[in-house]
Amino acid sequence: MIQLYLFIIGSCIGSFLLATYQRLLLDKSICIPRSHCDTCQKSLSGILLIPIVSYVYTKGRCFYCHFKIPTYTLLIEILFAIFYLALYYIFPHYLIYHTLLFSLLFFISTEDLATRKVHSTGILAIAGLIFFHRPTLIGFIFLSLVIVLSTEVFNIQSLFPHIGLADLELILCFAMVDSVEKLALTVLIASLSMLPFHIAFKNHPLPFIPALSLCFIILCI
Ligand SMILES: [Zn+2]
Repeated sequence: MIQLYLFIIGSCIGSFLLATYQRLLLDKSICIPRSHCDTCQKSLSGILLIPIVSYVYTKGRCFYCHFKIPTYTLLIEILFAIFYLALYYIFPHYLIYHTLLFSLLFFISTEDLATRKVHSTGILAIAGLIFFHRPTLIGFIFLSLVIVLSTEVFNIQSLFPHIGLADLELILCFAMVDSVEKLALTVLIASLSMLPFHIAFKNHPLPFIPALSLCFIILCI
């Protein structure tokens, strides 16, 4: 039964992240208006709100105007559903913690991908969650650093001009969990994976949070 819940939660998160990305790209609110068809603007209700099921029910078209819904919508929902279902088997002991942590990482990654900016709220939630899960002295020090950085009182970023403030805060969050070796490996792999994009898109700000998050999740698994 828990597996089914995780599958449904995963599909909903996939659907939410896609909608969040599309709305942030257009500088729109991620909460208002409620779920609707972008073509005919009709609000969705009932079965039309259920990811995967709604796609199958409407044969991949809007229920009202029959506009074709892109196939990647279904693929993303299925991919996240399977990922969250897999968490049940990978983390049988700290399932809720990992589900929440990865969901927050996916959210800030989506934010970074769409806007190249990440609000401190998401990072603070991650730091708080990690500390709540593992309350240690070193964790408390890193949590305090993340809070101080998020206030932007000190211009610490001038010391690291090529890395975003949110990137620094997220690395501090990971330092609460990982050993120095694992943290260094996460940052190294994330940096190397971004290198081709850096060469191809010189002088363009690149989203580093998704790379960091993905490396962290892969190394956790
Ligand atoms: Zn429509």
